[in-house]
Amino acid sequence: MIFADLGLSTEVLKAVKETGYENPTPIQEKAIPYVLMGRDVLGTAQTGTGKTAGFTLPMIDILASGQAKARMPRSLILEPTRELAAQVADNFETYGKYSKLSMALLIGGMSFSDQDSKLDKGVDVLIATPGRLLDHVERGKVLLNGVKTLVIDEADRMMDMGFIPDVERIVGLLPPLRQTLFFSATMSKEMRKLADKFLMNPKEVAVSAPTSTAATVTQGLYVVQRAEKRPAIRKLLKREEVRTAFIFCNRKKDVDILHGSLVKHGFNAGALHGDMSQSHRMETLDKFKNGEIKILVCSDVAARGIDVSAVSHVFNFDVPTHAEDYIHRIGRTGRAGQEGHAYTIATKSEAKYLDAVEKLVGRKIPLLTLDGMEEVSEEAAEIAEREKKAERNPKSSRRRNADEAPKARAARKKSEPATESTPKPSVKKENKAASPSAPKRRTPRHANDEGDAPVVGLGDNVPAFFKIPLGKTAQK
Ligand code: AMP
Repeated sequence: MIFADLGLSTEVLKAVKETGYENPTPIQEKAIPYVLMGRDVLGTAQTGTGKTAGFTLPMIDILASGQAKARMPRSLILEPTRELAAQVADNFETYGKYSKLSMALLIGGMSFSDQDSKLDKGVDVLIATPGRLLDHVERGKVLLNGVKTLVIDEADRMMDMGFIPDVERIVGLLPPLRQTLFFSATMSKEMRKLADKFLMNPKEVAVSAPTSTAATVTQGLYVVQRAEKRPAIRKLLKREEVRTAFIFCNRKKDVDILHGSLVKHGFNAGALHGDMSQSHRMETLDKFKNGEIKILVCSDVAARGIDVSAVSHVFNFDVPTHAEDYIHRIGRTGRAGQEGHAYTIATKSEAKYLDAVEKLVGRKIPLLTLDGMEEVSEEAAEIAEREKKAERNPKSSRRRNADEAPKARAARKKSEPATESTPKPSVKKENKAASPSAPKRRTPRHANDEGDAPVVGLGDNVPAFFKIPLGKTAQK
């Protein structure tokens, strides 16, 4: 099948041709004709399958007729992360270059006033993360009752991130008569139930089983002690012919620590996680995309769906706690039939997560032995020794990790308690930027945020007399 068979306009076909695509991908072949017909679509597709063009191309044609009104967008695309939202906006710019559509991107970390002025002019396409969109809604800056096409992208990730209540609230503000496109990398029972709420008689399209990993990716597993992980990854990075690599950590603080350690050891590395400022994240991502940075240490949430071609390696510094993340992670390499390498460094304590991954992918990840493991163990022992010393003498060094660079230490201090599976603090910051007059949400979206932790006992407010030893009061 060729693009011209799909029923797209000449303007869109011209833009597609200029991007150099030769043929539609399977999800595009399956979804585009139904989107053009105005049908609801329930799509099972991961990032990397071309699903973004699968909905943006027909949407450009659908929106070609009609006029945007101030503060009343005609279509809405919900994305779980700022990076994905920005990527979809890039797609609209690329494919919509011959169509006169206006677009606004509502994501946290960017100025409200710029976003407001775009909305005031009227937009055909609104691309948003749920939190920032609700902030605008609450400030009365956007009305959603003119939305005729809704896209809920990466729905499973929205669920993982706790965004579904926000999504439900947003959908409740849309007209019931609309076209809805719902995409998820996996289609669990829960996802289906959710889709049933939002879609009407959808056309189901699915590409590749959600448990598949590309056959072109060589996978391997190294089992080490916790303290050996950093020396082991350095060894691997030196051994492998790394062109560009993602290194995934489960926790934000480990992203910072590992990044600092790699930089200290002379590697050309950057870091990406949800606690970094939006501008810093964008800057790092641009550097990684244009090759200035070779290695990107990141968390799952921050890196989800980020489209970088020709990634030679993916390293799992930790086994992901959600097995599906393994597929998402290693899906960054071995794209479009290219060769890729994915290595996982695990400790014995991660066995249960590894079992879940192997069950999901339906195969054992080959266990490998690392050449020079003795050196790795020696280095790890040295690090452990220095850490012990630092613990015994906290004044001389407050460093938790002896090979941690000062920059990483500063970053760690900032991000310490949060894990990436709770991306809430950054969203909370977004909310703070909202006008003080904004009405309060009935259920706080981020009850587990730092600062919302329950106070145990009397907290810091222990009355002084409680601290006086019993004997002393008795003597008085
Ligand atoms: P997505 O799954 O939407 O994140 O897209 C993954 C990558 O596939 C992006 O780099 C797109 O530019 C690319 N892509 C989308 N459609 C096609 C196509 N028909 N042919 C080749 N590449 C494509």
